[in-house]
Amino acid sequence: MDFPITDLLDKENCVQWIIEHFHPHGFNCPTCNAPVDRAREFRFTEKSQLIVYRCNCCQSPYNLYTGTIFQQHHLTPMQTVLLIRGVLKGESSKMLSAELGINYKTVLTLRHEIQANAEQLQPDSPLLDNDTETDEMFQNAGEKRV
Ligand SMILES: [Zn+2]
Repeated sequence: MDFPITDLLDKENCVQWIIEHFHPHGFNCPTCNAPVDRAREFRFTEKSQLIVYRCNCCQSPYNLYTGTIFQQHHLTPMQTVLLIRGVLKGESSKMLSAELGINYKTVLTLRHEIQANAEQLQPDSPLLDNDTETDEMFQNAGEKRV
């Protein structure tokens, strides 16, 4: 049985999640950094169901994904949230492609880019002692408490 999982998620919740995680310093114009409330709704993309804004300050068009690895992939906010979730849970690209209705090559490309970004965020500093617990391997060494 196929679950229409992307239809079951609330779109506005997904948009909010993406804003919080992709734009932690605010959803602003990627060209001049003016906040989105200083932009006008310019058009709506049918496939990704996104509003394209046009900045009132510099006239640049942008959407939720501009400047991120998700730009130009035409995913809906629900597909984006579930794809990230699936990649983090280690679900197969084949399964994610089928379940989310995303082209297999797109899933592979985005999986590699998500992993490359995560790798860049790993701390360079070594852990503080020789007896490291497995769960500590995933924490920033600087945050370990004595
Ligand atoms: Zn602008």
